[in-house]
Amino acid sequence: MIDKETIEKYNVPGPRYTSYPTVPFWKEKNLNFHHWSRLLGAIQTTNNHTDISLYIHLPFCESLCTFCGCHKYITKNHNKESAYIDSVLKEWKLYQEHLPFSPKIKELHLGGGTPTFFHPNEIKRLVEGIFSMVNGKIEPCELSFEAHPGTTSDEHLSILHQIGFRRVSFGIQDYDEKVQHAIHRIQSFQEVAAIHQKAIKNGYTVNHDLVYGLPFQTLNGFKNTINKTIRLRPSRIALYSYAHVPWIKGTGQRGYDDNDLPKDLEKRAIYEMAFSMLLEAGYISIGMDHFALPDDALSKAFVNGTMSRNFMGYTTQSTPYMIGLGMSAISDIWGAFAQNDKNITSYQKQIDNGIIPVFRGHILSELELEIRQYIQDLMCNFETTFRNDSNFQVIHQEIKEKLQGLITDGLVEISEDKVKSTTKGRPFIRNICMAFDQDLKSEIVNTNLFSKTI
Ligand code: SF4
Repeated sequence: MIDKETIEKYNVPGPRYTSYPTVPFWKEKNLNFHHWSRLLGAIQTTNNHTDISLYIHLPFCESLCTFCGCHKYITKNHNKESAYIDSVLKEWKLYQEHLPFSPKIKELHLGGGTPTFFHPNEIKRLVEGIFSMVNGKIEPCELSFEAHPGTTSDEHLSILHQIGFRRVSFGIQDYDEKVQHAIHRIQSFQEVAAIHQKAIKNGYTVNHDLVYGLPFQTLNGFKNTINKTIRLRPSRIALYSYAHVPWIKGTGQRGYDDNDLPKDLEKRAIYEMAFSMLLEAGYISIGMDHFALPDDALSKAFVNGTMSRNFMGYTTQSTPYMIGLGMSAISDIWGAFAQNDKNITSYQKQIDNGIIPVFRGHILSELELEIRQYIQDLMCNFETTFRNDSNFQVIHQEIKEKLQGLITDGLVEISEDKVKSTTKGRPFIRNICMAFDQDLKSEIVNTNLFSKTI
């Protein structure tokens, strides 16, 4: 158990580092299509390395879960599905015109929103349409989707499996009824167990997403949730920290009060209890917030040191490029990022006009590429080694100085050029990365930009 002083000292607002630089520090505030298409056109693939990951954002949800931080569009009107799929396919066609190589899709993930809001035949049309524009073959590609247990049908499971999907992530959050009412996400254990078993029977590997730090969550209540989760034994579990940022996410997170949330120490105790229970049940702790059974591909990638991290979170694939399709989706071509329009109407209108609808982005400098790699190493492997490059000696020294406090507190060890988180330091990995983050260096960082690190 981590002591109170350490938690209080380090529980400060900080990025989650799905990218570096983090989105609030992106400098291309008005990135447009023409600039982005030039950046795409300038990609130089080395050794014919044309592998990409594809993320497709399917934004519709039938009702609002009040804890949610995703870009979504609440509607019960399913007539919107078809036109949206058309837009995504057109966007992908635009990428075929502007990418200077023919991509090999290694990984395709449907996120949202609620991908299972869409009729399975629309998803089939989408995925087959995507692959028909490259080489038509879906294999060998890892296909996965996020699913709401309440809107996932037998048809979803069977049709998506026929197309090639093999992994499904169910959004569970917490089984406690009081918590579920507060977050407006009612789903019983029986309902989840039924769809979980059906997914297994259909041949899927199943992930569960849980959230700690939600309103009215208690140690006993969450213990119950973890026990139920262990009974179902999903292959992977993501145990996310609830990001309470109502000033960013608007009224959706104002259905409850700050006072209803478990406080720093209580929240940490909930995490640590879940952590111990999952380890005892045979799961391996991976990166910042994931757990997987030893035979899961993510466990193997973690143990082999080949795991990677991108905007989708931890992944077994390490592709040099990730293209995001759909409203609000982010693309990453390693040297630059771009994000699509977050407004669905304007997203679709621009696509109809033959424009990839990016609205902001960032082009990474040499230094940022260097720091990006260090942060990626730390988030995936809890250690990194400074490169022997005379251009960055001064920066390396500054980072070492910033790490001194964490070393004194027993969270980090440095030997020569290797920086390693101690076991005690692992929950503070975001704080360790913050010592490397050049954007947090000199300016007074607006504390409202990020959720708290613990
Ligand atoms: S948690 Fe999922 S289902 Fe709920 S509003 Fe957010 S994206 Fe939609």
